[in-house]
Amino acid sequence: MAFLEQLPRSLPTPGGPRPCSHAGCPSAAAATLAFDYATRRVWLHELPDPPDPASYDLCSHHTDRFRPPRGWEVEDHRATLDRRLIEDEIFQADVSI
Ligand SMILES: [Zn+2]
Repeated sequence: MAFLEQLPRSLPTPGGPRPCSHAGCPSAAAATLAFDYATRRVWLHELPDPPDPASYDLCSHHTDRFRPPRGWEVEDHRATLDRRLIEDEIFQADVSI
């Protein structure tokens, strides 16, 4: 898959922040991507500890910009997404009053 070839694996610095796997990105990773080719699914998770060698760590910028190949599904399991949804509900509640 071409999009995976654009994500070189980088070795984490022991004891330091884990780097984004995107080529040339100096930012620290904020989420991790896991793939299953058989079912064409992509999972977004909080950074696992220790790092999962089968996944790709990405910073928040590249996580937000990530788009899966056509026909693939993305499941976002990050806790930050839940917080955003809750904030949206509160905002909508304020607007409707
Ligand atoms: Zn990045």
